[in-house]
Amino acid sequence: MSLIAQPQEILESVFGYTSFRHNQREIIDHLLKGKDACVLMPTGGGKSLCYQVPALCLPGVTIVVSPLIALMKDQVDALLLSGVKAAFLNSTQSSQEQRAITTQLKNNELKLLYIAPERLVGGDISFLHFLKEIGPSLFAIDEAHCISQWGHDFRTEYRVLSQLKTVFPSVPVIALTATADKLTKNDIIEQLQITGCGEFENSFNRPNIFYRVQPKRNSYESISAYLQKHPEDNGIIYCLSRAATESLAAKLRDDGFSAAAYHAGLEKTLRDERQDLFLKDDIRVMAATIAFGMGINKSNVRFVMHADLPKNIEGYYQETGRAGRDGLPSEAILFYSAGDAIKLKSFAQVDNNPEQTGILLEKLAQMQQFCETRTCRRQYLLQYFGEQSGSYCGHCDVCLEKPELADATITAQKILSAVHRLKQSFGMRYVADILKGSNGEKIREQHKQLSVYGIGKDRPKEEWLHYIKELLRYGYLEQAAGEYPVLKLTEKSEPVLYKGEKVFLPAPVQPEAAPEPVIYQPHAYEKPLFDQLKQLRNRIAHEENVPAYLIFSDSSLLDLATYLPVSKDDLPKISGFGSYKIERYGNAFLEIVQDYCHENRLASQIDLKQQRKPVKKTMPKERATETKQASLDMYRSGMTIEEIAETRSLSAMTVESHLAFYVASGELGLREFVNPEKENTIREAIAKFGPGRLKLLKENLPYAYTYTQIKMVVAAAGRE
Ligand code: ADP
Ligand code: ZN
Repeated sequence: MSLIAQPQEILESVFGYTSFRHNQREIIDHLLKGKDACVLMPTGGGKSLCYQVPALCLPGVTIVVSPLIALMKDQVDALLLSGVKAAFLNSTQSSQEQRAITTQLKNNELKLLYIAPERLVGGDISFLHFLKEIGPSLFAIDEAHCISQWGHDFRTEYRVLSQLKTVFPSVPVIALTATADKLTKNDIIEQLQITGCGEFENSFNRPNIFYRVQPKRNSYESISAYLQKHPEDNGIIYCLSRAATESLAAKLRDDGFSAAAYHAGLEKTLRDERQDLFLKDDIRVMAATIAFGMGINKSNVRFVMHADLPKNIEGYYQETGRAGRDGLPSEAILFYSAGDAIKLKSFAQVDNNPEQTGILLEKLAQMQQFCETRTCRRQYLLQYFGEQSGSYCGHCDVCLEKPELADATITAQKILSAVHRLKQSFGMRYVADILKGSNGEKIREQHKQLSVYGIGKDRPKEEWLHYIKELLRYGYLEQAAGEYPVLKLTEKSEPVLYKGEKVFLPAPVQPEAAPEPVIYQPHAYEKPLFDQLKQLRNRIAHEENVPAYLIFSDSSLLDLATYLPVSKDDLPKISGFGSYKIERYGNAFLEIVQDYCHENRLASQIDLKQQRKPVKKTMPKERATETKQASLDMYRSGMTIEEIAETRSLSAMTVESHLAFYVASGELGLREFVNPEKENTIREAIAKFGPGRLKLLKENLPYAYTYTQIKMVVAAAGRE
């Protein structure tokens, strides 16, 4: 197929982004070769770009099939605001409007047409023939799980899409969904007759979301306590019934919280108004039915609660997925009662369709199982979507309560022998120093002769301290009372030391606050400016009668308030500023930034804004500078990364990269940082996702894998 533009060019100039996310690029290239694709990507992952970019690279029109009329309008408005010729066809339009659009189609004036499935293939066969004359260049089937009975949202009207491939055998089809188990995915492919298509999957893991399930008893007290404890955060509370959303919102308002209800039974104007207030952070808590949230781009939703049991995992995953799109720590809290499950069972009865009823009941049972499980919630979710995952994520309620125990017999033996050799007369830091073979001043000369001196070089000191504490907790050691808390053996130590009895202890988890946020930088931006920019955005949105986030997303405004561009040439560096939007709105936003900088005597920070560079396969060659050497020396003397950072007034990340340099050069062993098992897992992830993007790797590894560990393995891999 001949292209009229290149994907990267479109990404930058139309959408204002610098690089593709996840496997967007692969998917796009695949389609541009004329092949079919089936794409699974979590909510917020960026599915739309997968067909919008090819649509603009290909000569003709792309037909997008979408089930939700509201979303169609939203997407079309967003495209129009970026200068893309797009339109939709559905039953809400007059026949005159519809005719105008078919005329545009005939004149090849449209790049994207959104359409409901029944409008495309149903009854009106002439439309298909009409399309055949037009010769579309691509079909995109959004929410593709709707075609499958096995999915949670089966729509009969989607079935007509089975004819598509018969009528248009050579036009590529892309099917997209955020929720599909294996069965559903295979069914999508079969129903659409795109067997042999490229299958693209992204990890469903959302590492920044903490999952918690708690009993429904006194749930209102829990909710209000949570809101009090997190006064700055906003979020959504999903309720099963419309009445429940109203009463919950009223109660919250009585208690002084900013809350509103949202459900499909409200007047459209009221719904839109409330949604808008929520998007603008003027309403903090939305008590809503599942009608709320479809197609909402709000990136700073900090929590999603379920006051009642959701009907299935797909829905639960999708709803909780609305939290934390900005990558910052967020919470998903579900209030569970078995009574809810009984209530939902009666709703699951589909008249005259026992097969469908059976599917819905099975899905409900799995939802209930999720709530009752005593294993890692993240693992349950990921396995549900057919993904392998470790049994311990360290970032859900189950993992927090019940740390995973691993065989730590050898470790325990080393510690206990050290305590024994040191005549049970030293504290835990000294014992750890001995194991590390530290050269510090405190270490007595005679102890350097002990056989245990330095037998624990392979591990960071914090890990030794961690294991000593665990041995204390499990009664293999005790601390003497009194001024010096020296370590003593107990009766439990003996069988370990002399009879090889096995010891199981929780593995160390270094709680990494959260993955580096991609777009959101809560501290470094100018809040007053951000608020002014929001006001301008809302004014424009009002004038043009579109939702505010379609003009620019919060993250675009944050980018402005962080990097303070003061010239029009700087604007393309700001996320979301494509050339059309720059032409149309650039000056208005620029003026506000300029004034603000002037008043507050601030200089532009645009030089700090890094254009993402293409990933290099190997580590760049660097010379060991003195500063790196200093970090290495301190590390070798037994100091931790944090201690070095503090002593040298550097950030831990800088020290880490110093050490990574020596791992890359082979001077430092990888075992200092990571055990063989974790190393393997990290290497597998590197093979799959490439070494260039730590965040991507972090996202696709269990939560307990730290940035340090990943960085070191990447460094070691670079050497090889
Ligand atoms: P999904 O349909 O998968 O839920 P969207 O297509 O709505 O997700 O994308 C979510 C958000 O991420 C949108 O605001 C979109 O503009 C943004 N986005 C998508 N791809 C990129 C990218 N490569 N770089 C920056 N932002 C992106
Ligand atoms: Zn877990």
